[in-house]
Amino acid sequence: MSQLWQLGVGQAHDLLSRREITSTELTRAFLARTRDVEERVKAFITVTGDTALEHSTLADRAFEAGEGHPLTGIPVQVKDLICTAGIPTTCASRMLEDYIPVYDATAYRRIRDRGAVLLGKGNMDEFGMGSSCENSAFFPTGNPWDLSRIPGGSSGGGAAAVASGEVPYALGSDTGGSIRQPAAMCGVVGLKPTYGLVSRYGLVAYASSLDQIGPIARSVADCALVLEALTGQDPKDATTLPGQPRDYISALNGDIRGMRIGVPEEYFGEGTQPGVSGAVREAIAVLESLGAAAFPVSLPTTPHALACYYIIAPSECSANLARYDGVKYGYSFQDTNDTWEAMEQTRERGFGMEVKRRIMLGAYALSSGYYDAYYLKAQQVRTLIREDFARVFRKVDALATPTSPVVAFPKGEKVNDPVQMYLIDVCTLPVNIAGLPGISVPCGFSDGLPVGMQLIGPHLSEPNLLNLAHAYEQATDWHRMRPGV
Ligand code: GLN
Repeated sequence: MSQLWQLGVGQAHDLLSRREITSTELTRAFLARTRDVEERVKAFITVTGDTALEHSTLADRAFEAGEGHPLTGIPVQVKDLICTAGIPTTCASRMLEDYIPVYDATAYRRIRDRGAVLLGKGNMDEFGMGSSCENSAFFPTGNPWDLSRIPGGSSGGGAAAVASGEVPYALGSDTGGSIRQPAAMCGVVGLKPTYGLVSRYGLVAYASSLDQIGPIARSVADCALVLEALTGQDPKDATTLPGQPRDYISALNGDIRGMRIGVPEEYFGEGTQPGVSGAVREAIAVLESLGAAAFPVSLPTTPHALACYYIIAPSECSANLARYDGVKYGYSFQDTNDTWEAMEQTRERGFGMEVKRRIMLGAYALSSGYYDAYYLKAQQVRTLIREDFARVFRKVDALATPTSPVVAFPKGEKVNDPVQMYLIDVCTLPVNIAGLPGISVPCGFSDGLPVGMQLIGPHLSEPNLLNLAHAYEQATDWHRMRPGV
């Protein structure tokens, strides 16, 4: 290993725990790398250099005292909608441009309690609404494989930072694909855990029944290490599941013989680039060569998932974002004595166009007279989608699909066509609708750009799912490829 910034989480931990390097050296190496590439990649809204060096000093003391968790002393980027006390958390929105939380999100607290080093806050689509990072109110992020292209979204900053070696891992959030899709487009690994496995306390809410925090890293094993730190019931989030955190690392034995993999043909439909479906089918053949059995299955409700999601997510968004009224949080228009005008101008100036579109869609779907036709109907479809998955998971252990139907596209290509942008998430959002775990692993290239394979499992099947992804990864070299940024 020639450079410290090329280390993954597990590799860095080995060197730290053998005291061959210090956390301060490691942190300085990642900060230097970030200084070198950030002008081009733009993956961070805030780089917290001083905080990182404080955290690394504490980590070095922990190692001196013979303590140290697998995440101790290792830098991380945290998506800018995960609250970090004393450090700006903007959600990539003008509305929260100057917002500094007074408390930590539980997920961030958990990795900090294990000695993680905060290198900074990641760029994203405003409030998580988007698929390309172009809805950030501040600036777009570049894809490290081709800076003129988008990194995916909404956790585009996290995927780009991991791919370009600015950090070994990042925390993202995934409402309809926001961890898996940018991971696929940047050639890294991204895991959306089962709904309820990771606390959402302190995650600024977009669509509460769909949102989930998870890791983005350069290997499946690194994702497993981070997941182990993140999971567990939280009294501050009533939707977290009871039960002890599992040992995800020891599940990675690489043995997938006899595992049954379903290939839902609906996920290879119209709009899937041939280079993407080709790479994913080859990856499925690799799983078969490792002893898994793959066969076609059908999820007939798939074509309704996009419409269902774009009723439920905006409905929840319109309720969640009602709190930004210029009184309680963030930006506040002051140039008037009229309360209604103040509120109107606050929201008019504070929110970007896509966020406003979502609020209007959601308010419409929830309004009396339309509630039954839209929101209630979407909830009924949601039940059918869940049942579809439950039925196939009686026959298979996991599903293999493309993560995104397309590779990273040029910046600007879809900004004026919301439906085209929404369609990027057709393969990922059914997983959120059903609350299932899904992981994206690099599985090849098309036109020189990374392709991701998505593996989906039943609720709480993370140990199995991670092992399946790990076995694939160990049999291939895709996750070792690095962009030349
Ligand atoms: N692109 C989808 C949306 O805009 C998903 C985003 C996400 O997962 N946060 O809603």
